[in-house]
Order: sequence, then C-alpha cells, then structure tokens
Amino acid sequence: MINQDTHPELKPGTVPMDEMSVKPQSNYVNILLLRELQSHAVFTTNGEDADIATVAVGDGDYSPGLMFMRKQTGSDRRVGKALQRDLGLFGEDEQECTMQVNEMCQDCPECILYGSAASSSDRAVSITSRVMYDTAYTLRDASVVIDEKFQNAPGDDYAKSAEATIREPDFFEPGTLFPSVVTLHDATPAEVAFVLGITKRNKRYGAATSRLGRVNNEILGVYVGSEEGPANLELTRGAIRGLVNDGEYDSWMDVVRAETLSPDAVGDLVRETFEDGIERHQLGLERVSDGTVDELTVATTEDAFVDVLNEQREQSRTFLEQAE
Ligand SMILES: [Zn+2]
Repeated sequence: MINQDTHPELKPGTVPMDEMSVKPQSNYVNILLLRELQSHAVFTTNGEDADIATVAVGDGDYSPGLMFMRKQTGSDRRVGKALQRDLGLFGEDEQECTMQVNEMCQDCPECILYGSAASSSDRAVSITSRVMYDTAYTLRDASVVIDEKFQNAPGDDYAKSAEATIREPDFFEPGTLFPSVVTLHDATPAEVAFVLGITKRNKRYGAATSRLGRVNNEILGVYVGSEEGPANLELTRGAIRGLVNDGEYDSWMDVVRAETLSPDAVGDLVRETFEDGIERHQLGLERVSDGTVDELTVATTEDAFVDVLNEQREQSRTFLEQAE
C-alpha cells in the first residue's frame, strides 16, 4: 500500500485516502520536471504556427516557444487511462474509461483526480481537476528552436508564386527544453504515485499520430507542503540567468540564441532556481528524498499497483458522493 504511514515524507503535502474532501485545503505536491524533446514536435493551437510569447529577460526580451497546459494534460490523461487499463483495473463487465469529454466514467481514479465534466449518463456532477499544469517556456528563442518548413506545391515550374508553397506546421527542434511543474492539490499519496508513474511513462506529447513529439520527462525533484512553488516562467528565466552566472555564456543573448544547451546543466539550474524561490519567498515546502520518489515511481510499474488503484477507487467514490 502507499499511504502517509508507508511514506511519511509525503505527509505535509497530501491527504489520507479516507479524509479526501470536496472542500479545498492547503496540501500541495510540486513535481519539478525538465521536459526534453527527443524528436521534432508540433505544438500548435491553430494547426500551423507554434505558440510564441515575448518575455522580458536581462535588459531586453526574447520570444520563447510555448508548450501550452492543454498539450501536457491531454497527453498525460491518455497515458493515465492506459495505465489503469494495462493493470486490469476495469472488470470484464465494465466499460473502460474514455477520453471523450462528456463520456468519462467519473468512476476511476484518473477521472476523479484529473477532473471531468458532468457526464451524459447518470452523474450530474462535474469534478474539478486536482492536478494543475502551467504553460511551459523554452529557454531559447523561437528563431533557433522552431523550424518553419515549406514544401513546394506540386507542379513543374521552376519558379512559383508564394501561394504555391504549402505551409507545414512549425516544428520544435529535438533538444528543446521546457522546465515545467505539475502540481497536485489535496491529493492522496497513492494519487501522487499515479502521477509520477504517468510522468515517467509518458514519452509523447503533441499530435497523437506519427513519430513526432517524443519527450523525455526528467523528474528533478518533488516538493511537498502547504503552498505552490515558483511558476514555470520564473524557472526558465532563472536557468537562463544561471547559465550566464556560471560563466558558460557571456550574456543572456548568447543563451537564448545558442545552438544547443546541456540538459544536465539546465536541470541543475532549474532545481536551484526552484529551491532559491522557496527560500526567497519563504514557502512552506520540503524536498522529498530521491529514494522515496524512485520507490513511488517504480511501484507504479509493478502488477501490485492495481491493488493501490483499487483501494484509491473505493475512496474516490466515497469522496465523490460528498458532492452528490
Ligand atoms: Zn474514468
């Protein structure tokens, strides 16, 4: 089993299974990540253009590429539902849970943790997600991490008008880094393990088809307590500053225009920025030991994890009844 007694380090940021409440409290688990693209990836809202922001850094600004919240949740949820299915959570007489917005079962740990709209069938409640994501920002400028590809329209002419070229969606380059935090609010220790398992398992974000969008999620640390930690933008900015302070680059401009950045160096700096932020803002957060994080993550790969999910499912049902 996975609970506050088996894993006391999680106590400050979680609730016990039998004390789940629909009234929000102040228990937070912050999972600090560095997402690294292992292949080209397409993250776009309009189907063509990568999403870009303008962000102040140093004495100027740059244009990071963005990985919106929705790109991260959708993909993680798909993996969460697959994990439940692979472990055999659903009985033979049961419908498996789906990704259809108004047809989620509202009866599995995934639906009750990640939230769902009131379903078309018997239940009339909508469940607020207790897993929070935030838009993630690249350290480097869109001009170096995004590749605009144009294809010539078919035809024999050597010269073509601009309209004859077919626009392909923008691609993020392999090696692009996105510092990200996933935050759980009032989750149980079993739910924390579930999300760690999803994070480790999920190797693909963005468009579900093709071989694009391979991502490695490096877990840099897990922090528990009564507050949310520093936000993604602060982490990206802090890592840019850190690379300059470490003397690896002469200025922030060299960082945002670099051909590549070392994921290890950036990972260390993201962790440092997060921990400095905790100290500076005097946040009530503690780091969970790496041993515990590994143990929880590994537990989700074992068959016995279905027992943890089944127990969670029972308690999640009771929790949901409070809302009905
Ligand atoms: Zn479900």
